[in-house]
Amino acid sequence: MKSFLPRIEIVLSQIRDNTRLLCELYGKQGISLMGVSKAVLGEPSVIEAMLQGGVKFIADSRIENIQKMRNAGISTQFVLLRTPLSQAESVVRNADISFNTEIETLRKLSYFAKVQNKQHQIVIMVEMGDLREGVMLCDLFQFIRKTLTLSHLKIVGIGCNLACYGGVKPDGKNMHALSELVDRIEKEFQLSLEIVSGGNSANYEWYKSTLNVGNINNLRLGESIFLGCETVNRKAIPGLHTRAFQLVAEVIESKKKPSLPFGEICQDAFGNIPNFQDRGVRQRAIVALGRQDVLVSGLQAENKLEILGASSDHIILDSRNYNLKIGDEVNFNLDYGSLLAAMTSPFIQKQFVSCNRSAIAA
Ligand SMILES: *Cc1c(COP(=O)(O)O)cnc(C)c1O
Repeated sequence: MKSFLPRIEIVLSQIRDNTRLLCELYGKQGISLMGVSKAVLGEPSVIEAMLQGGVKFIADSRIENIQKMRNAGISTQFVLLRTPLSQAESVVRNADISFNTEIETLRKLSYFAKVQNKQHQIVIMVEMGDLREGVMLCDLFQFIRKTLTLSHLKIVGIGCNLACYGGVKPDGKNMHALSELVDRIEKEFQLSLEIVSGGNSANYEWYKSTLNVGNINNLRLGESIFLGCETVNRKAIPGLHTRAFQLVAEVIESKKKPSLPFGEICQDAFGNIPNFQDRGVRQRAIVALGRQDVLVSGLQAENKLEILGASSDHIILDSRNYNLKIGDEVNFNLDYGSLLAAMTSPFIQKQFVSCNRSAIAA
């Protein structure tokens, strides 16, 4: 088979293994998982791997990705993670559940659910301190009261999101607060909340250290499944594969050059005044990949090759004593930001492979 460059190599069996292990781990205390598909743009074979691994729901922040998965014939419960507005009609058509924080949006969802002769399920997101999406606690009961007047909606749960914008850590305190709310809401409104979604890949440490998860019965995982790590300290989770995705690009120039640019220094391509360290003449390589394709700061090149810098279409490497020739392939590990970008780049070919230089966290 012809290998395209640049390409992202994806090992489906490792994604399935990671998912299975996480389902077993969190399942021990009754926590179900939503497999979060946005980083792979709802790529159907990756989603199938997550479903085989045991996730109960597939969740995405983009309705277009959910539509794509449905069109590919994937059958599961689809959850829209980002609160919708102008896309309400499509959300009711394509998602079974959506996360919400605004009454105006809920009115639209209820309206379109009525038109489509459906009941749309919602999870209300509660602000627990990270300051991204969420209804403030002081407004929550009034919000629920209003939501209950909307005929074609069903409140199936509450949730919160942490460690995203504000970097607030999920801990015993905020998880307990979310958990307590469940009891109060169920009592006040005679509701039964099936889903209590406590967070994302940042909830690992909390989970490992808590003896009692309370009412929390769901988490939404992207990064842990794909990259095998938690996201408070970006530590690998024991037993998980950390290299299910590898980016591969080709060397298009390899030369000895001085490490200091010569000529008068002005702004670089992105408006910064660059600053360089003189290391003498070094062997350097350029790979055909750039800031239009990935978040270069989230890449790690193999063999300790050092990334010196990048422009929109070129990454410049110090190839050390490693004599790279043009046409050679360079492998990169990706962080979540780079993975998101690489999967979104139309220039990077997605290729499924059966194995790679596997790494399992000890
Ligand atoms: C992206 C997203 C997630 C997944 O986060 P990870 O850190 O990748 O596990 C969970 N919840 C919401 C609301 C998201 O937008």
